[in-house]
Amino acid sequence: MILKLDHIYKDYNTGKLVVPVLHDVSLHVEEGEYVAIMGPSGSGKSTLMNIIGCLDRPTSGSYELNGENVLNKDDRSMAEIRLRNLGFVFQNFQLLPKQSALENVALPLVYAGVRRRERQRRAAEALTSVGLQDRMNFQPSQLSGGQKQRVAIARAMVNKPRLLLADEPTGALDSHSSIELMKLFQRLNDDGVTIVMITHSPDIAAYARRTCDIFDGVISERRSGHINAAQRAEKEAEEEAERALARMRQASRRREQTGGLA
Ligand code: ADP
Ligand code: MG
Repeated sequence: MILKLDHIYKDYNTGKLVVPVLHDVSLHVEEGEYVAIMGPSGSGKSTLMNIIGCLDRPTSGSYELNGENVLNKDDRSMAEIRLRNLGFVFQNFQLLPKQSALENVALPLVYAGVRRRERQRRAAEALTSVGLQDRMNFQPSQLSGGQKQRVAIARAMVNKPRLLLADEPTGALDSHSSIELMKLFQRLNDDGVTIVMITHSPDIAAYARRTCDIFDGVISERRSGHINAAQRAEKEAEEEAERALARMRQASRRREQTGGLA
């Protein structure tokens, strides 16, 4: 089991006020799964993601990542666990604005102590695998939203983590780029990467193979995997119909251009 969270509680302590956010959250994820976590704004999704991502600690509960108890580690060991096991993708990309795509992707390798040439080689390979081989030296401001998110995915995957954590990864993308991104996630999952993705879009959650709902800090399993599969089939049929329509339009344009001789 790659993720094993049991009876997680999280309160934020803001001086006078204690804000309870997560309430008895248990979540078990097997290697190779693709899980969507859905919930309204303020329900505790990012709080949970920060705990899963070893960026924050719960108030109580237990958490094992890859069989390792992460909560009894000091911050430094936690950071090491993070580097070794996890890739992150965020809604707002979180790329360094003055650095090229290549430098952004190479950054986790700096922390991992990889030498410069090897860093560049691996970063270039990761960018190529997301289709950005001709954008390596572009800065984020020179890239579209979808391209920025692909740079972020290349950065997340450059250390070859087993678990990809995504917090609203399509939140800032148009629907075309969102679908492209979901195809990329699907490919990573097919290659064996475990994915935990937060979203509040049912269309996006439908790409996952399992969905959990979180509401007011309480998590529950959605028992309707077949609906996700049905939604996915419907989406594929829609995409196929769109492609067929595009082919027809193209053919009719060609006929116009050639005066009906093609
Ligand atoms: P979501 O990602 O589902 O929108 P969050 O996990 O960001 O929700 O926040 C859940 C609740 O916790 C919200 O009510 C938010 O105000 C509160 N919260 C989040 N971070 C903090 C913090 N650092 N201090 C105090 N309250 C916080
Ligand atoms: Mg959030």
